[in-house]
Amino acid sequence: MATYLITGGAGFIGSHLSYALLQQGHRVINVDVFTDLYDYRAKIRNVLAATGCKSVFDFRYKEADLRRLSELVRSADYRLEVADIRDREALARICAQERIEAVVHLAALPGVRASGLQPLLFQEVNVDGTLQILETMRDHGIGKWVCASSSSVYGNSSKAPFNESAPVDAPISVYAATKKSCELLGYTYHHLYGIDTVMLRFFTVFGERQRPDLAIHKFVRLMEQDEPIPFFGDGETMRDYTYIGDIIDGTLRALNYVEGRSGVYEIINLGGSAPITLRRMVELLEEKLGRKAVLDRLPKQPGDVERTDADIAKAEKLLGYAPKTSFESGLERFIAWYKGGQVQ
Ligand code: NAD
Repeated sequence: MATYLITGGAGFIGSHLSYALLQQGHRVINVDVFTDLYDYRAKIRNVLAATGCKSVFDFRYKEADLRRLSELVRSADYRLEVADIRDREALARICAQERIEAVVHLAALPGVRASGLQPLLFQEVNVDGTLQILETMRDHGIGKWVCASSSSVYGNSSKAPFNESAPVDAPISVYAATKKSCELLGYTYHHLYGIDTVMLRFFTVFGERQRPDLAIHKFVRLMEQDEPIPFFGDGETMRDYTYIGDIIDGTLRALNYVEGRSGVYEIINLGGSAPITLRRMVELLEEKLGRKAVLDRLPKQPGDVERTDADIAKAEKLLGYAPKTSFESGLERFIAWYKGGQVQ
């Protein structure tokens, strides 16, 4: 049994990863500040689902709710720390309490469009926050981590399918630039201080507990309420959707990889490897929900890339990663979760 520190552990991916590590018998420390990018109550439900805590929560106000949650879920295997990754003192206090095997750094402000509206904040959380994590790891002798990067770093100039060895020096959103910066900082700390690193470039992740601001979740919600869905551009943009179960499998494999070796710095794509167009995604939603979508046609948004398409040969070779869930069956699972009251 090992102890892992997961930043952003109350989020979509972080809560699934926490659950998986707890199931494997490990100890998990979640560090999360419950940002308001989307409703903090969704993150409370994520933590309850990750820890298998059945308690019914009557929400009051955020601070009290988070205090109550921390007490509720504290156990021999799990600790929730409500803290900001930019707060070095808080990180030091958290890391001083026990030996941590490795960090999985998922905390970030996500979202291409939002990053254009608040570029300085994105820089502070995604870049400065990552540096605080790296410095804390150095201070506490934690020599291994897996860090979330993004397919957005490929921009519009990479040839599909995107290979990790392609030059990525033309990010077209602030978000993508912050993720590329994390990759660079990870390399520097690996070079200077020997921190073993796997940078995972996640490709649009979906499934149960998906962020409510992301297309599939948002579209299902709006279609179920008979409201129009925002439809950007001509519908021909393509996304390589990746089911959450496959992302968690790949992340666990990356953790295993980095733990079992020294002298490691790798950037690895985790994608579904079967991109589809926005138009096709909406058709499938119509089919699965048995409803016609009303389209609110809008111009293509600045920062949105034309296509994402993962070459997963490196993930297959180094990690033995092979995505198992098709877009259609992932969609069915998401809809079942959504219609089932969004628990678990
Ligand atoms: P999410 O928003 O659900 O989770 C991120 C978590 O980080 C949230 O719970 C948030 O409260 C926390 N957080 C944000 N700022 C923080 C701070 N300053 N201190 C402490 N906690 C903070 O997002 P997600 O979809 O689970 O994404 C996880 C990671 O994966 C992110 O780094 C994201 O950029 C990356 N990623 C996600 C996708 C995707 O499709 N979901 C694709 C590519 C990359």
